[in-house]
Amino acid sequence: MAIGGGAPVAVQSMTNTDTRDVAATVAQISRLAEAGCEIIRVAVLDQEAAAAIREIRERITIPLIADIHFDHRLAVAAMEHGAQGIRINPGNIGGPAISPTKLKEKLARVAAAAKAHQVAIRVGVNAGSLEKDILARHGHPTPAALVESALRNIALLEDLGFEEMKISLKSSNVLTTIEAYRGLAAACDYPLHLGVTEAGGLIAGSVKSSVALGILLYEGIGDTLRISLTRDPVEEIRVAYELLRSLRLRERGPELISCPTCGRCQVNLFGLAEEVERHIQKIETPLKIAVMGCVVNGPGEAKEADIGVAGGNGVGIIFKKGKIFKKVPEHELLPVFLAEINQMTQERRFSPKE
Ligand code: SF4
Repeated sequence: MAIGGGAPVAVQSMTNTDTRDVAATVAQISRLAEAGCEIIRVAVLDQEAAAAIREIRERITIPLIADIHFDHRLAVAAMEHGAQGIRINPGNIGGPAISPTKLKEKLARVAAAAKAHQVAIRVGVNAGSLEKDILARHGHPTPAALVESALRNIALLEDLGFEEMKISLKSSNVLTTIEAYRGLAAACDYPLHLGVTEAGGLIAGSVKSSVALGILLYEGIGDTLRISLTRDPVEEIRVAYELLRSLRLRERGPELISCPTCGRCQVNLFGLAEEVERHIQKIETPLKIAVMGCVVNGPGEAKEADIGVAGGNGVGIIFKKGKIFKKVPEHELLPVFLAEINQMTQERRFSPKE
């Protein structure tokens, strides 16, 4: 799949299964692909994991990237077994404390394999593993230190005549991330993979990632992204699409608008919104859906929604574009509303311009 050069920002994630466990890895990738994941990365810790890539690839539909540290033989093996991309840090792919000559030899083997298999390399620079001399000069992992490390690692591959690269600069600090990617975008033309690393759980991780990546994407920086969460990776995909949707960069599936409720609300709106959210997760058609707490203000407050529901006292309404469409007894509200959503989805599928 195309990354950069004006292609839509691609959404990716990483499995947290043991890559050697093909069945578990394929099952997780399938769930991720269903949620909209477009590129998947798997950790390759040994030769068995590299060999597993062949079987995994035969059973999945999205491109696979192998994530490798310290061992160039694993990078070469992963490509031989069908990885469509690799993520390495060129400066450490020869292992720790290696001479520059030996590093160049090993990296040359990786670059030659990448050329032979037409595989792109992601140069992954991480604030936690910066080169000692760079860290000593900058004092700590500053944006300038990250950019310097990235440019040094890029140069290692360029010196070997290799340019099919994407670059990432991962830090867990939002401000460092923003400044580092801005600096790198000004210093090179390679596609950039965005992410905040070790961002945290669902709330903290989504907020940190959205602030950092949102600012960068708004400035036109970034070609692919991963939202890192300490959660089921499927949640990463949902957050990624919400982020891209909010910037009008990508649209996938329905957008759910729901009110926070107030003293006018007379239904269990949180439960209703949760049920609707669960129902629409597998719908790919873009649709604006509103779930509102009261019939008096709800339809007006959610006027731009294609379809909405508003709870009342014993009776609720379903509205379309702010106009009442149906009144329904409260206990039938959810099933009738879900059926209307399904019907609208079908109609949209056959007349997408509506
Ligand atoms: Fe309150 Fe009704 Fe507005 Fe919800 S839609 S916040 S219940 S006024």
